[in-house]
Amino acid sequence: MFENNVTRRGFVTGAAAVAGLAGLSTIAPGLAGAAPQTHDQHTEAEMATEAGALAMMTFQKIDGTPVYYWRSNRGNTTARNWQCTDAFYNALVAWIRDLRSLSSSYGSISYIVSAGFYVNKPGQHGAGTAMDLDHVRWSGGNTISPLDQAHASTNAAIRKRYLATEAVCRRRFRYVLDGWYNADHHDHIHSDFGGMPVRVLKDSESDTKFVQAVCNNFRGSGLVIDGIWGTNTQNAFNGLKSALGVTGDPHTSSSVWQSMCSKIATKGFANQNI
Ligand SMILES: [Zn+2]
Repeated sequence: MFENNVTRRGFVTGAAAVAGLAGLSTIAPGLAGAAPQTHDQHTEAEMATEAGALAMMTFQKIDGTPVYYWRSNRGNTTARNWQCTDAFYNALVAWIRDLRSLSSSYGSISYIVSAGFYVNKPGQHGAGTAMDLDHVRWSGGNTISPLDQAHASTNAAIRKRYLATEAVCRRRFRYVLDGWYNADHHDHIHSDFGGMPVRVLKDSESDTKFVQAVCNNFRGSGLVIDGIWGTNTQNAFNGLKSALGVTGDPHTSSSVWQSMCSKIATKGFANQNI
């Protein structure tokens, strides 16, 4: 996937592209293993800039599901042009198909709301390989709204639904930053192509905080959500794995981790403890 982005640099021409190239050459060495982006608030002006020469695709829907923008006009359902790389779009298609399948009891997905994919700034957004998820609406009337800080809802069912939605993101993306991760992500779930393949790593702050939040919200583990994988987190994770019937190593096997994420998502969308 990263090879695609690097290859595309060869096609970039013109003055506008020089700025793009400068940005890419800054981030490209870090794509494989760098820390996730922490500054993740995008302005309308940054998104209005055309990626143009960077050979991104433009879309208004992901696999037929509309993607709206509410940051400047809450609730609007105006079609909007978004951009990302072909490879990232393909991952988005896989992601939304997973989401449809795992949340099918809610009906179909009427639309999603994003705060940005390609954005004219450094990092994964600048490379066209990131998504900020603000909101999902299902045909049966359910919603999940990271935009409204659903991770911190006083309603346990909403917190489970948020974690279910994040678990689906984690099936397809390795760097997923949520409301527990830091203040920049209190109002959206960020997913990108950094650090692939998908799995859960003990030395990842974002992965560890997700595990801690899942253990607390589905099993009442009472962990401090500090991103540090200590003895209590290990014990809680062992209990979570066992209760979900997960065999194999989700720290090294993408398929084991994806299966575990699906099971978390199923429980979360059903508002069930684990
Ligand atoms: Zn983001």
